[in-house]
Amino acid sequence: MYKVYGVSHGDLDRIDTTTAHPARRYNYWLGGKDNFAADRQSGDAIAAVYPAIRTTAIENRHFLRRAVRFAAEQGVRQFLDVGTGIPTADNTHEVAQAIAPESRIVYVDNDPIVLAHARALLTSTPEGATAYIDADLRDPAGILAHPDLRRTLDLDRPVALMLIAIVHFLFDDDRPDETVRRLLDPLPSGSWLVLTHGTSDLASPEVRAHAEAEIRAGRLRVDAMPRTKDQVAEFFTGLELADPGIVPVIDWRPTVPEADRPPVTDVAMYGAVARKP
Ligand code: SAH
Repeated sequence: MYKVYGVSHGDLDRIDTTTAHPARRYNYWLGGKDNFAADRQSGDAIAAVYPAIRTTAIENRHFLRRAVRFAAEQGVRQFLDVGTGIPTADNTHEVAQAIAPESRIVYVDNDPIVLAHARALLTSTPEGATAYIDADLRDPAGILAHPDLRRTLDLDRPVALMLIAIVHFLFDDDRPDETVRRLLDPLPSGSWLVLTHGTSDLASPEVRAHAEAEIRAGRLRVDAMPRTKDQVAEFFTGLELADPGIVPVIDWRPTVPEADRPPVTDVAMYGAVARKP
């Protein structure tokens, strides 16, 4: 199945180039071209206080590849990737379908720029399927009930729910725990949660103190909510964590020797993969 959605002028009108958007700023940190001045300014302001943010973005993306490969090797053939981001190298369907061409992937993002690039995500193998839904993580019921999701995924069979570098955009008022649970609850036993989450646990005390001072002084605006390892662990309540558990993304089933990996202080992101019993 190859499904292409029309992107209308209305969608493109929704693209606001005057304020920084997470998808475009992340694309900038990854070295991509799909970003605007406001994204680069915000990206540079954060990088000035926390230079490791670029390494964090790159290592988060490496985690995504390893985790999708792992899930595919465990037999998962369906993926729900919420907070897809602007397409880049090795999108979820490319990694999964390289192992199992019949894999079916639903992408979800709420940024119109990701919608505008969605065609690059819809290049499924003929045996598999991909779809893209323009929706918000804060509406789990809407995502799960969406006709394009229902056409693409069979919710009676296991699904890997991927929340990669998105949940930290939910502040506590958005009830992130409940949101994750409402997406997982309807999925059958044998489904997986693949999640990464920003943290300030790993930064050196000096970097952390400086960042906190800049935020307090109003010189740095942060639109994300870093969480501690214990807070991240709450998202995995009732699930069986795959080894090595919740760790800095570079330490999750690494494929390069430790000597060739960046220091953990440069990676502000926890990652984990867990199975629903
Ligand atoms: N998962 C990708 C991209 C991470 S960037 C990766 O790890 O490589 C975070 C993405 O989440 C952005 O594309 C942003 O638009 C999206 N996002 C942030 N908040 C969202 C929300 N409430 N609903 C849907 N998508 C959201």
